[in-house]
Amino acid sequence: MLAIEVQPLRVAIIGAGPAAFYAADALLKQANRAIEVDMFDRLPTPFGLVRGGVAPDHQKIKNVCRVFHKTAMQQGFRFYGNVEFGTDVTRDDLRRHYHMIVYATGAQTDRSMGIPGEDLAGSHSATEFVAWYNGHPDFRHLTFDLSAEQVAIIGVGNVAVDVARILCRTPEELAQTDIADYALDALRRSRVREVYMLGRRGPAQAAFTPPEVKELGEMEDADCLVTQEDVELDPESAADLESADRNTVRNVEIMQEFSKNRPSGKSRQLHIRFLVSPVEILGDSEGRVMGLRVVRNELYRDKRGRLRPRPTGQHEELPAQLVFRSVGYEGVPLPDVPFDENWSVILNESGRVLDPKTRHHVTGEYVAGWIKRGPTGVIGTNKADAVETVEAMMQDLQAGLVLEPAEPSAQAIERLIRERQPRFFTYEDWCRLDQMEIQRGEALGRPRVKFTSIDEMWAAVRHPPD
Ligand code: NAP
Repeated sequence: MLAIEVQPLRVAIIGAGPAAFYAADALLKQANRAIEVDMFDRLPTPFGLVRGGVAPDHQKIKNVCRVFHKTAMQQGFRFYGNVEFGTDVTRDDLRRHYHMIVYATGAQTDRSMGIPGEDLAGSHSATEFVAWYNGHPDFRHLTFDLSAEQVAIIGVGNVAVDVARILCRTPEELAQTDIADYALDALRRSRVREVYMLGRRGPAQAAFTPPEVKELGEMEDADCLVTQEDVELDPESAADLESADRNTVRNVEIMQEFSKNRPSGKSRQLHIRFLVSPVEILGDSEGRVMGLRVVRNELYRDKRGRLRPRPTGQHEELPAQLVFRSVGYEGVPLPDVPFDENWSVILNESGRVLDPKTRHHVTGEYVAGWIKRGPTGVIGTNKADAVETVEAMMQDLQAGLVLEPAEPSAQAIERLIRERQPRFFTYEDWCRLDQMEIQRGEALGRPRVKFTSIDEMWAAVRHPPD
């Protein structure tokens, strides 16, 4: 098909997080091309992890939604919220209605550690806790036993840092955020006193970033403590630090500064520990978490030159009645879409989906964001990532490599969605919800009070209060 014949180019984007919005923006900005973008999300609300992942005390990061809103206001953009790919709309449906499809579904689950005790009551993934305190409709019914006095968080990435902060902040600090109401109530009653954040390698290999980890030393009623022994670098790490990037150098400096801290009488203590790996989550006779058995590690250089942890055989038990594993997100397969089980991503080349058997491009199908490259990088990383995908799409359009949908009109897909999911949410519905959430927050001096159930959201947009 000639590029000139595809007018307008109709594109479906699956997912409504940062990668999806950056891809939509790059598409809608194409000069001399009529392009229409329909964005689908299984939730009624857009913005993916910016709403459901970014910590509630990081409101400034959420300002990126204003950029996404501008994209959504452009002519040619439509949002179909509460429409699930694979159930309400299938890959075959999309291939019947669009010239191109972009999968931007992120990494929806978490990795497990594969150690005994991971299934005990009181052992959770950090991603569940994050989704719960951020009011994600699928996670609002979860409960976390915050009567625990000691909590262990496994991993030293930015998600672990977020979880540690939320556990250590005072109710007054949390009350200034958009944390879900039920989470605020539960955290008000929290008896957590000691939080351990455990890294399996040293401070020079930690995955957190300097501004995020520095904040751990600035909490109102929690001391952040690291031992002198833990911040002393082994000779290999010290040698690597000479040529390390700024973030790594700064991380080590911040840990060295923290190592000078002493308990100051604040009511909570956050201990950051390095070179320890959990080997077992220990349970009591009722199957509840009561501690963590860890092994001390040493570092060795693998064949690729990376410093890896290996156990020394020296064990220790830490008391903890609640354990969060924060060892990374993981992508999940989408129904009928080729998936690479080894890397937990959709196999692709520069954003073009590849057939796993032939390694040829599956015409008309693309990926952007974490489902394309794995769960790494900050929100802004997705911009360049999405632009790369859109460049591939435009080259393919030029070469006539697009799908030939039987029913490409906007009306045809809307008819189908109405039939399959009558309770779909438009972008205008989201704008109304957004305003209502902000108004609910104003009365309490909070940025917003979130709606957390889909029924509640539907009632609010269909029968708004006077
Ligand atoms: P991450 O950055 O990949 O960190 C995962 C952590 O888990 C690492 O410390 C890793 O250690 C450790 N780990 C992995 N497997 C382990 C095991 N079996 N036992 C013990 N430890 C293990 O993942 P994340 O924290 O989920 O963050 C995901 C992405 O979102 C990152 O790019 C992050 O920067 C971003 N993010 C940013 C913010 C922000 O505020 N800017 C907030 C949240 C998330 P090794 O290094 O040894 O593998």
